[in-house]
Amino acid sequence: MRLSILASGSKGNAIFMEMDGTRLLLDVGIGLRRLKQGLAALGMTLEALDGVFLTHEHRDHVAGLAALLREVPLPVYSRPGTIAALPGRDLLPPQCLHPFRGNMAIGGVKVEPFPLSHDAAEPVGYRVRGSRTCTVATDLGFVTGAVQDAIEDADVLILEANHDTATLKQGGYPWPLKQRILSSRGHLSNLDAAWALARMKRRPAQVFLAHLSEENNRPELAEETVRDILGRQGVPLSGLTIALARQREPVSFGESG
Ligand SMILES: [Zn+2]
Ligand SMILES: [Zn+2]
Repeated sequence: MRLSILASGSKGNAIFMEMDGTRLLLDVGIGLRRLKQGLAALGMTLEALDGVFLTHEHRDHVAGLAALLREVPLPVYSRPGTIAALPGRDLLPPQCLHPFRGNMAIGGVKVEPFPLSHDAAEPVGYRVRGSRTCTVATDLGFVTGAVQDAIEDADVLILEANHDTATLKQGGYPWPLKQRILSSRGHLSNLDAAWALARMKRRPAQVFLAHLSEENNRPELAEETVRDILGRQGVPLSGLTIALARQREPVSFGESG
């Protein structure tokens, strides 16, 4: 499998994933030009995609959807609540929109959504299973039992580490926004991400910390917090690679076979 996190954070999100010959895009929160550039760097085109899966309808996850569908009418899959709540839904080509419940087999892989606690209509994370398992969990206020189960058997895990709680509290955001981020339907802190990893019975080989706030976090701080908690819990860090997804440039992962 290979993976490229084309963008991650409150200004736009998109992930390209290729597994067992199936090519998926998870979220389209960036413009068409950046999307094409990111794919071109992988030797990939929009036409080569098998489908688009949306996590939820927030703008940073769907802002580029209309432009993408105007260019290539790809099938778009998500929970019915998300499809219904898409901004500008009436202007999107209806034949492209595929609300679904349960899991979905597409090409050689199985896509399994799992519910997230977040202030959107019907937000989900995705577990993609093929010869490997890759799980994406961003935009969640806390790690529910369902989330902890869903991340458990990932080979590659993309997990939100949105903010450092102290930095957020001391920072310049208005109080209602701080409250929203800190709430159980907001975003995951560095510490929450660290504990989710610490609690896993089998940890992935590769973790990407994602959806980092540019105002209330620093990449080094997110990574330090995770390493510190895992270290204190006696988790061996040798088999675990921790990387950071970025807002402004793609971060890739690939393995042959
Ligand atoms: Zn988001
Ligand atoms: Zn969101």
